[in-house]
Amino acid sequence: MPERVIPVVDLRHPHLPLPNVADLPSGAALPHDRLGRPLHDLRISVTDRCNFRCSYCMPKDVYDRDHAFLPQSSLLRFEEITRVAQLFVQRGVRKIRLTGGEPLMRKHLEVLVAQLAALRTPDGQALDLTLTTNGSLLARKAQALRDAGLQRVTVSLDGLDDAVFRRMNDVDFPVRDVLDGIEAAQRAGLGPIKVNMVVQRGVNDHEIVPMARHFRGSGITLRFIEFMDVGETNGWRMDQVLPSQAVIERLQAEWPLCALEPSAPGETAQRWGYVGANGQHDPSLGEVGVISSVTQAFCGDCNRARLSTEGRLYLCLFARQGHDLRSLLRDPSVSDSRLEAVIDAIWRGRDDRYSQLRGRIEADTGSGRRVEMSYIGG
Ligand code: SAM
Repeated sequence: MPERVIPVVDLRHPHLPLPNVADLPSGAALPHDRLGRPLHDLRISVTDRCNFRCSYCMPKDVYDRDHAFLPQSSLLRFEEITRVAQLFVQRGVRKIRLTGGEPLMRKHLEVLVAQLAALRTPDGQALDLTLTTNGSLLARKAQALRDAGLQRVTVSLDGLDDAVFRRMNDVDFPVRDVLDGIEAAQRAGLGPIKVNMVVQRGVNDHEIVPMARHFRGSGITLRFIEFMDVGETNGWRMDQVLPSQAVIERLQAEWPLCALEPSAPGETAQRWGYVGANGQHDPSLGEVGVISSVTQAFCGDCNRARLSTEGRLYLCLFARQGHDLRSLLRDPSVSDSRLEAVIDAIWRGRDDRYSQLRGRIEADTGSGRRVEMSYIGG
């Protein structure tokens, strides 16, 4: 038997150098990157572990019992996450999303949520604080998260057909428990709730219309995500991508839809509203969204930074390397002002636009493999 080579990203590969900068002068203007994009969103991965083994994200043959997840000592502590988040807020961040791995697997997550909910922008505003989860632990945790100050959640659900969903999560997890989690989140007031469905042609695309029918008029926004070539382990193939355009056509064959304006600059989803009897968008029927990161790159207004579980700052979901902020956070000689200057300088130097260049840049890979979504945070 030939030896099997499993292409897992090597997290020990060298990280990007940190800029050598002086403390940030007070009143410094907020940074824009080299393509003129502001820093607005911070996604924080709180764990690289997940209880699902979705084949498009953490395939079982790679993330098996021999897989070395990060040791506890590598993870940023809650105080470290809160400190660095506050400094990002000073540099322009207004929205924080907790993710992973499965963020609800991080013990006492509500303690971190309470710390982040207490952060304020320089003009005294609370942040938009949200979380992405597979929903498996949500029924148990929704109320505690709400009490801690979480505002809303996005739940991933790839279909309503139990057999299809169990096969996709590959741990035999039932749809019913995720729906219970969504209902618990609704009761706890964690809204508006979004549901994300990754669409893989030939795997779950027949679930598009049943999912839309289920969530239409429920107050929950369903969003369809194109299967992405993120990481190196999911065996991505273009022929498994169902373009968002086709998703919208299938929905329009059932219900009239109208295009809606983006609700915020840099929004990942294109919005479509259900049309009511008067020929206009009927807000009581709600809306759907499509996230077309493969067929219609939206790098142009990407304002997201990503902090990995062990404190590396990545500037793109498809990045190969990140900047090691943890070493600075754990160095007692590094002041907040210095850290702020580092974040500022890193953002100013950013020119990532992988999705726009997709295909053209494969030959010019730089060093290292693309990081996995479970590590960097989805
Ligand atoms: N465990 C949480 C969850 O399931 O939502 C948070 C992390 S997960 C990596 C975040 C989101 O990324 C999920 O909605 C997941 O479906 C999506 N995702 C993962 N791999 C993907 C891929 N290759 N293409 C598109 N979406 C993907």
